Amino acid sequence: MHRMRTRLLAAAAPRRRCHASAAPTLRTRLELARREVRLAERDGAASAASAASASLTTAMPLWRSELSGGGGLDRTTLSVLLSLCQSAKAPADALDVFRRLGDAHVPKEGDFATVVRAMAESGDVPAARRLLGEMGERGLSRRPRSYNPIVQALARGGDAEQALQLIDDMAAEAVARPASTPNAGTYLPLLDAAKGRGLGAALPVLQRWRTARLAPDADSVAALRQCLGEQQVVEAGEQCLSVLHPGHRGADCGNCGAELPQPTLGGDALAELSTRVSSLIGSDARSVRDLQAFDGWLERREAASGVRFDAVIDAANVGLSNWHGGKFSAPQLEAVVDALRAEGRVPLVVAQGVCWKVACKQPHTKLALERLAAAVPRSVYVTPLAGRLDDVFVLYAALRHEARALLISNDEFADHRQLLPEGFERWRSGHQLRFAFDDRDALSWTLPAASWPEVAHAPPRWHVPLADETGRWLCIGE
Ligand SMILES: [Zn+2]
Repeated sequence: MHRMRTRLLAAAAPRRRCHASAAPTLRTRLELARREVRLAERDGAASAASAASASLTTAMPLWRSELSGGGGLDRTTLSVLLSLCQSAKAPADALDVFRRLGDAHVPKEGDFATVVRAMAESGDVPAARRLLGEMGERGLSRRPRSYNPIVQALARGGDAEQALQLIDDMAAEAVARPASTPNAGTYLPLLDAAKGRGLGAALPVLQRWRTARLAPDADSVAALRQCLGEQQVVEAGEQCLSVLHPGHRGADCGNCGAELPQPTLGGDALAELSTRVSSLIGSDARSVRDLQAFDGWLERREAASGVRFDAVIDAANVGLSNWHGGKFSAPQLEAVVDALRAEGRVPLVVAQGVCWKVACKQPHTKLALERLAAAVPRSVYVTPLAGRLDDVFVLYAALRHEARALLISNDEFADHRQLLPEGFERWRSGHQLRFAFDDRDALSWTLPAASWPEVAHAPPRWHVPLADETGRWLCIGE
């Protein structure tokens, strides 16, 4: 009896397991399908779509029978099913799965992005836009992966104006929510759609690239060239650059000779950077007073000399970057000051208090520094002994006068970078001049980048950096 019951139970068990296993079967199938689609992607989008489509013909009935049996699926499985629908170019199924997902779970940004893409790719722009609106109502971030497929659908449908309007909406949204910032892929469909139509068709994209200070990627540059046709493009060679020569702070185009100005931070970005640099000094009254005193000194200096400095030297960094047993080298500082003056620059030396005091204990160094201070009157500022943040004084000075001054330092400012806005790195890349002394104490410079790799307009020609080759640009004219 006992044995028979055991045998009956054993026979019944597989059937029970089978009934309960619809969801795991679907999940397993979907995982397999996802892998197959990924493999097929190597052979192109069409193969991926047909692999996804084949899997979907079995997956959808399984899912529907699961639903009619009252079973729900976990959100991961539903998300996978949703992306399979998108890969299979099955917008109706995608919308169905997405809505069911929404009944049981809270749809995430990625789920929305998938269904928006499915609708946009099918050409149903109104549905894609409605979903995008829903994302906004739910407070979800709307990244380029949600916007770009709609831009693409509009551009493909010949509605460049609407596509550009949507990009402008993205840019406006990005002011408060940077995740929405258009990327290179946002503009690609417009260039693709304008293939062979010339500079006029590419202009709206070039203008937006320039405003957004965007570095176009390799695909965008290739699409731009196809849009222009080869006649309008000349590849400019390596840029020549003379950073230290007054009046020549940018790159000269090797083709048209136009001077691409050294971009500087403007408006809000500069104001934000200046504010944040000042706040690095901290909130204690003494430090704040020290920085205010420096500001007052700078103002008096300018009023008395009538000349603005245009190079800020981080004296501790220059003097201590050597192999002289860690001792401050006055000749190095003198060499840097002399080189800048020989180029017509007006240097400002900002010296860390403790470092300067220690250096002055060496009689010959003290003499040399006194000589230096006498040679360039009102151009040496020694920070307070108690203050630790001499970097802040250096940066504070360099950002004065629209941040046009060069900064002479090998410091990477690692302590501060994370506390400063993105503009800091942009500014540094164009303004920080690094130096080296060889074993004979001869000075050499590492120049700042010729220009940020951004689109520049030197009327009537446009200059577009090649994404993969630094220092090379397309020179585009009418
Ligand atoms: Zn040019």
